[in-house]
Amino acid sequence: MASKKAHQASGIAAGILAAVIVVHRGAGGPFQLLAMLALVAGAWGGTAPDWLEIAWWRKKHRGKRRLWITHRTLTHWGIPWVTLLWYSYVSLNSAGWAPVAFGFAAGGLMHLLTDWPNPMGVPWIFRRHSLSMWRSGNLEFVVILLSWSLCAGVADGLLFNGVHTTRLIALCQSQLKNFSGDAVTKVIPRQFIRQFKT
Ligand SMILES: [Zn+2]
Repeated sequence: MASKKAHQASGIAAGILAAVIVVHRGAGGPFQLLAMLALVAGAWGGTAPDWLEIAWWRKKHRGKRRLWITHRTLTHWGIPWVTLLWYSYVSLNSAGWAPVAFGFAAGGLMHLLTDWPNPMGVPWIFRRHSLSMWRSGNLEFVVILLSWSLCAGVADGLLFNGVHTTRLIALCQSQLKNFSGDAVTKVIPRQFIRQFKT
């Protein structure tokens, strides 16, 4: 699994996104309290699939908590998380629990997304599926960055019709052009050649 820290970090991103959606839908309640709770629930949900499988009521075994089910099975199943997300979303303006459940589900789904790339994979629908991109704990920085970018992109799309994301992509493209135009083709080879001359 991705480390707990990575799950916490991506859970917070999911929580912020959930809070933005709650506010956007006008379901934040007095002082946007429910939106804030959605944020906290998102951070909490970000680690949920891992702590939900721990048998808290059983004694520790060699200093470690035992699991009551196999790691990454039921609690990492995509269908219940997606169902909860959908159901709480449609209930946002009619049920008081909905914003919190919505944040929690957003965090849980983000957890599944961050577990997805490593070899063990995640049972989204029926069988485990893995993106097989890296080993557990590797490239955590990428996981965190991707989760935050994803949430920022969705929030931007929702609030500003994606203006900032489009601008950022355009900026990256132009920078990339400059980079490949100057740095790669001109500067680097020159430096590289110079090394051998001196
Ligand atoms: Zn996990």
